[in-house]
Amino acid sequence: MSDRLPGFSTLAVHAGAQPDPTTGARATPIYQTTSFVFNDADHAASLFGLQAFGNIYTRIGNPTNAVLEERVAALEGGTAALAVASGHAAQVVVLQQLLQPGDEFIAARKLYGGSINQFTHAFKSFGWNVVWADPDDISSFERAVTPRTKAIFIESIANPAGSITDIEAISTVARKAGVPLIVDNTLASPYLIRPIDHGADIVVHSLTKFLGGHGNSLGGIIVDAGTFDWSTGGKYPMLSEPRPEYHGIRLQETFGNFAFAIACRVLGLRDLGPALSPFNAFMILTGIETLPLRMQRHCDNAKAVAEFLAGHPAVASVSYAGLPSDKYNQLARKYAPKGAGAVFTFSLKGGYDAGVSLVSKLQLFSHLANVGDTRSLVIHPASTTHSQLDDAAKIKSGAGPDVVRLSVGIEDKEDLIADLEQALGA
Ligand SMILES: *Cc1c(COP(=O)(O)O)cnc(C)c1O
Repeated sequence: MSDRLPGFSTLAVHAGAQPDPTTGARATPIYQTTSFVFNDADHAASLFGLQAFGNIYTRIGNPTNAVLEERVAALEGGTAALAVASGHAAQVVVLQQLLQPGDEFIAARKLYGGSINQFTHAFKSFGWNVVWADPDDISSFERAVTPRTKAIFIESIANPAGSITDIEAISTVARKAGVPLIVDNTLASPYLIRPIDHGADIVVHSLTKFLGGHGNSLGGIIVDAGTFDWSTGGKYPMLSEPRPEYHGIRLQETFGNFAFAIACRVLGLRDLGPALSPFNAFMILTGIETLPLRMQRHCDNAKAVAEFLAGHPAVASVSYAGLPSDKYNQLARKYAPKGAGAVFTFSLKGGYDAGVSLVSKLQLFSHLANVGDTRSLVIHPASTTHSQLDDAAKIKSGAGPDVVRLSVGIEDKEDLIADLEQALGA
């Protein structure tokens, strides 16, 4: 064995996986079982008491899911990870470890529409209060900090316009405030951006998008960077205080730099229950093996499509950070030098009606509410994903009435451009 550290593409294929010890199966098997037999009564007791690691019940952990967790932790450069049923489940589980009723967290205003809804409405019923800040104005994060602030939440490449967030600048604000920075890295994937390298303490993903990559399986994951000290000032009692459900152990003291991932598993997933099906874990693992190849193709195609649109007379503007003229191009060069992702927006001179008409004329682009599929996708956010927002909030989040969002797939770029040309021209 050489002592060379494996590169990203090698990790994408191998991290966390070994040939199955009993059958020799080379692909990771789907351990489609709810529960696991204990060796004896002592073994069972030590598993339940967190004195030993092992399998108990698939709501808490499963060997197929464990390979996925190890692989994504390796790709993101974290200490440990926890797979859950969806990206939204990941967000609930993360914040449940950090916030008590009445606490606040600061979130960037440019976010996936579903996250805006989840934070504004569902989380309010838990007593968790979101305070919005503007990712283009770092001082708005500083001004939003109060003694009740427990976390900051941003997207690395932000929905819907594909804008790039200055992760390092916001991580400095988080450090000063003594709170962890959570980065939703769904649109970048670790192939383009590794937020932990830029100061993130927790990374979350919707595995449903580029990581799974084929539009066939929902999933979510939480990656613990192992960087945050949870013991200071009694601010994070789930991690620092004795846990009555586990004989009074303190998770930070017992598990050190992967205590947050453990808390998410044994306090969050165990009790809230959003477990990932091992079948979905298998599908997503298979997708991850080709992540570097797919992601590069997604980015190259997106750039070609953005350039075509920027030159088209029916198009008013294109918001793609990979274009040299874009206001996020400097940040893209710094944070995502291999490519600025494949999700971006453009606006049409004909406004709302032109947006609706374009979506109906496209043939190769599927009109649906998803991103990060091998197939090219299109949506008109103002009439769909962002329709719950009022007009001012739509514009602030980059989803004004004239805006169309693309998720560019891995087809031949000439075919994608021809489809857009016929739909725009007709
Ligand atoms: C899709 C998405 C989510 C939510 O993930 P689900 O798997 O649909 O629950 C969160 N953040 C971003 C950026 C997304 O694109």
